[in-house]
Amino acid sequence: MSAPMVDEAYDVVVGGVGGMGSATVSHLARRGADVLGIERFDVPNAEGSSGGITRIIRRPQYEDPAYVPLVERSLSLWRDLDATHDRDLFHQVGSVDFGTADSGVFEGSRRSCQAHDIEHEVLTGDELSARFPGYDVPGEFRGVYQPDGGFLHSEQCIVAHVEDAHAHGATVRARERVEAWDADESGVTVRTDRGEYAAETLVVAAGAWTGQLLPALADHLEPERQVLGWFQPQRPERFAPDEFPVFVADTPEGHYYGFPVYEVPGFKVGKFNHRGETGRPAELDDEPDREDERLLREFASRYFPDGTGPTMRLSTCMFTNTPDEDFLLDIHPDHGNVVVGAGFSGHGFKFASVVGEILADLALDGTTDQPVDPFGVGRFD
Ligand SMILES: Cc1cc2nc3c(=O)[nH]c(=O)nc-3n(C[C@H](O)[C@H](O)[C@H](O)COP(=O)(O)OP(=O)(O)OC[C@H]3O[C@@H](n4cnc5c(N)ncnc54)[C@H](O)[C@@H]3O)c2cc1C
Repeated sequence: MSAPMVDEAYDVVVGGVGGMGSATVSHLARRGADVLGIERFDVPNAEGSSGGITRIIRRPQYEDPAYVPLVERSLSLWRDLDATHDRDLFHQVGSVDFGTADSGVFEGSRRSCQAHDIEHEVLTGDELSARFPGYDVPGEFRGVYQPDGGFLHSEQCIVAHVEDAHAHGATVRARERVEAWDADESGVTVRTDRGEYAAETLVVAAGAWTGQLLPALADHLEPERQVLGWFQPQRPERFAPDEFPVFVADTPEGHYYGFPVYEVPGFKVGKFNHRGETGRPAELDDEPDREDERLLREFASRYFPDGTGPTMRLSTCMFTNTPDEDFLLDIHPDHGNVVVGAGFSGHGFKFASVVGEILADLALDGTTDQPVDPFGVGRFD
């Protein structure tokens, strides 16, 4: 049988060059693989899940202490990338996880610090508000303060990973969309709106579009619309990075998060699972509205009253949720040469550096030393 007609051949093709795909092309190229990354929008872009400038990184993992070893590895990889690139990637401003004393965020954060011996302080609401004057937390609330976390400049992290991939010989193409793929024992063929490529392995890191490229997994991957808001602080000094740690808040009004003023002249706030709007990416409204703004402003005025001046910016973004909100990092159940990294359920960016390492391991070796057992496809059977 003759070989298929393809435009180019690679060891690995990575479909999607956002947060995870950019890290994956970098790790693959560093390991000597001949790699092609294909991105349907720009590099970086705000259409997917990594836009909006910043992302929280925190060592405590209230979701599950099982994530702590991954975030430790990730933090170390981010620091390495930061040290070797002339880019502004990581800002260590500390992290606070606060809520009512019995809240999952506070309790889970404290538990993960205890389980992994992470330096931290438990503060009452009054103590938090005294230490960080931008905060106004009810006295009976409790918070975990951890000094090593902060925020990543997500868009610059993608740029740095792609530059690193370039420096190690990778090819990355933006404005090209993966439309279909075929896999058999001899390899993978990937068809885009510009050409056709052969590879030994395909890695799908297509964020909210992953279900469209991997229909067998679509039932486990539900895109959800999110909105970010930036409000001018009335007391800007209280919202400067050296005065204001990033936070996650578990309150009777809902589960929120926020950042100091950085790049936009506003204090940034988001609500997890914003209005519960799910669907295919094209069905989710990418224009924020007044109700979106109201939800964020009401929370900010209750807990951060000096940070609720005029609106500076609103933007939308997408989560891709799995049923248990844990990641999906595995080899495709029917194709040993197709790897997937998806379903980051709103808490994935901080892990992108280690996820890139894991996806490169799975693509090149079929296995990884990182603790990925909780993230297999088989758990949904
Ligand atoms: C508002 C918001 C706030 C968040 N806050 C945090 C936080 O503070 N901390 C944290 O750790 N995480 C946070 N997250 C989650 C985190 O941002 C995501 O888990 C992460 O960005 C997911 O990265 P990804 O690579 O899977 O998706 P993306 O970055 O969207 O990358 C997927 C890429 O694939 C491309 N693509 C899709 N289909 C195709 C195709 N057919 N062909 C070629 N390319 C394709 C897309 O264009 C996109 O660029 C937040 C998410 C949102 C939306």
